[in-house]
Amino acid sequence: MPIHYDLHSHSTASDGTLTPAQLVQRARHQGVDVLALTDHDVTDGIAEARTAATEVGLQLIAGAEISVSWNGVTIHIVGLNLDIEHKGLQAGLAQLRAFREWRAEEIGRRLEKKGISGALEGARAFCSGQILSRTHFARFLVAQGHARDMRKVFVKFLTHNRPGYVPGEWAPLADAVGWIRAAGGQAVIAHPARYRLSATRLRALIEEFVACGGEVLEVVSGSHSAGDVRGMAQYAERYGLLASQGSDYHGPEQSWLELGRMPVMPASCTPVWTRWADAVTVEKPEVVSSGQGIDEQYERSVET
Ligand code: AMP
Ligand code: MN
Ligand code: MN
Ligand code: MN
Repeated sequence: MPIHYDLHSHSTASDGTLTPAQLVQRARHQGVDVLALTDHDVTDGIAEARTAATEVGLQLIAGAEISVSWNGVTIHIVGLNLDIEHKGLQAGLAQLRAFREWRAEEIGRRLEKKGISGALEGARAFCSGQILSRTHFARFLVAQGHARDMRKVFVKFLTHNRPGYVPGEWAPLADAVGWIRAAGGQAVIAHPARYRLSATRLRALIEEFVACGGEVLEVVSGSHSAGDVRGMAQYAERYGLLASQGSDYHGPEQSWLELGRMPVMPASCTPVWTRWADAVTVEKPEVVSSGQGIDEQYERSVET
């Protein structure tokens, strides 16, 4: 039996809507054998996910998705197999959460000026963890009828040059990769096709990432089209990077995404799990879906 890997997912500890335990149970139900919980800038969900994973017989990989600013673009770097007790990692994540807190207040102020009052408190009501994300504001704004759905609310309020968008600096790339490596993990460029970088800029990003000690490209993502996957597989090969795969699941509301469901990893790729000491097998998962339909659903001009 092939082992099914999903190495990118979110829980209520960040901007997902399932608790860590519910997420693990759903993953198991969907046939996932190895799941990475990779909440944004926080590892609070890992303990609960681990307990649930033991109960349902699934292997849980401790991860996080770290927000990075690189040449004016927000990039997400996933860390896999983290020692979540590592002080340097936790100090880095704490800095990002402090920025998030200020940013959330600023988003609230900017929306207030546009006549939308109570957005900060409203977003908090959708948030059960310690990070406030644009997703929580989006849910509040949709609930209040300011936009029809999650895609529209981002386009209308929460992306570049929109009233609820606050520019700012996340972690430098070298710092994020450094924290991950110091905590014994592997650094992954998350959903590389979603930043819409030119080929020149993507090469520059990958070269800098490799120079900092980054090892993995998320070739397969729930938000990548089949063409994106082929393109990213070529970059992985060219730069000698390992390949990761993850759904980037946030909850059942995103009906076009499912845990464990993503395009097939191309045969030219070397999966990241082949380097894991306790990997049981290197077989690639069977699949499942082509990733089509996501392009229409996701506002791809937006960095996420
Ligand atoms: P933040 O890290 O707080 O800036 O929020 C980024 C999160 O917003 C991403 O992780 C996605 O979950 C979500 N997001 C960004 N753009 C979109 C979009 N166009 N539609 C739906 N969700 C989005
Ligand atoms: Mn998210
Ligand atoms: Mn994610
Ligand atoms: Mn992301």
